[in-house]
Amino acid sequence: MSTILVVADHDNGKLREASLELVGLARSLAAAGGHEVLGAVLGAEPRPIAQDLAERGGLPVVAVADPLLGDYSSDGWTAALAKLVEAKSPALVLALHDARGWDWAPRLALRCDGAPASEITGAECEGEGFVFTRKAFNAKLDLRFRLKGSPVVATVQRGSAAAATGGGGPSVEDFAPGLAESDLKGRFAGLQASEGGKVDLTQEDVIIAGGRSLGGPEKFELLEELAKALGGQVGASRPVTDAGWLPAERQVGSSGVTVSPKLYVACGISGAIQHVVGMKGSDFIVAINKDARAPIFDVAHVGIVGDLFEIVPALTEAVKEAKG
Ligand code: FAD
Repeated sequence: MSTILVVADHDNGKLREASLELVGLARSLAAAGGHEVLGAVLGAEPRPIAQDLAERGGLPVVAVADPLLGDYSSDGWTAALAKLVEAKSPALVLALHDARGWDWAPRLALRCDGAPASEITGAECEGEGFVFTRKAFNAKLDLRFRLKGSPVVATVQRGSAAAATGGGGPSVEDFAPGLAESDLKGRFAGLQASEGGKVDLTQEDVIIAGGRSLGGPEKFELLEELAKALGGQVGASRPVTDAGWLPAERQVGSSGVTVSPKLYVACGISGAIQHVVGMKGSDFIVAINKDARAPIFDVAHVGIVGDLFEIVPALTEAVKEAKG
């Protein structure tokens, strides 16, 4: 029996909810391959968060405590986790696929002579090892692969597994990695939070989202009209915010916000995994796309194949008429 280590993350003293998805994935692998699942929470005083993870995820958790882990640093996390890996010998380490995961996971794999797996969307047990899945070619193909080396340190895309809930018998074990100042090459200078945007899409019941196909900022007027008629807000895919057509707070997806409105209308959005992970939890999804094979239709409850420049105004008129 080998161990799957789930490295949870936290912000402002609170467990990041996505960590429970890592536990969900680890549990399904454990059930299939007879592995044991162990959580880890790093920090200067990580015990309360470790306790929270243990209770909500229903798994034993190691509280990796060191004064030098008070602020995140890639050196600190890599050094502390390398010691934990040495102590627990996991076959697989799971990390969130986010700015921190991208930072420490490949370093840990290298430090432990293991193998890094980036942005996986699934994993299965096969023989003694694991087969991973990730999206390839703009999410048009699923790539299945195995890696040589142990442990595999994998960053996991949001939405790849259902969040774990409870499970009984949780316990927290303390682990002191005993970091030295010399383990940290850099210094944490401070965190500057960005100014809050005027719109918080995570709180909206209705989101009308537009993609690259809109072609320019002025075309979003069309979506504004529909959003106004339905009492919602306009969201966007990343090319839209990258191009500056809409502010960054409107971006839905893995590097934007994760939303779960009652209604999400995706207009001219292809449905790349990075977008889908941010909106697939919506109660009802309508997708409008010219391409009947666009991946967005895989997550849509209603799909409309056609030109958004004809369909969106028609929908707006229909809503206005229905509302009188
Ligand atoms: P495209 O993929 O170009 O799709 C346009 C779609 O519009 C096509 O399906 C086309 O058929 C359709 N279309 C064209 N004209 C019309 C018309 N007149 N009427 C109807 N349909 C039409 N993306 C995000 O959205 N959010 C993220 O948070 C995000 N994070 C990322 C993070 C990383 C690390 C990386 C590598 C990528 C990320 N991306 C993100 C980008 C993502 O991979 C896709 O490139 C992006 O989502 C595509 O945006 P799109 O659907 O608007 O454009």
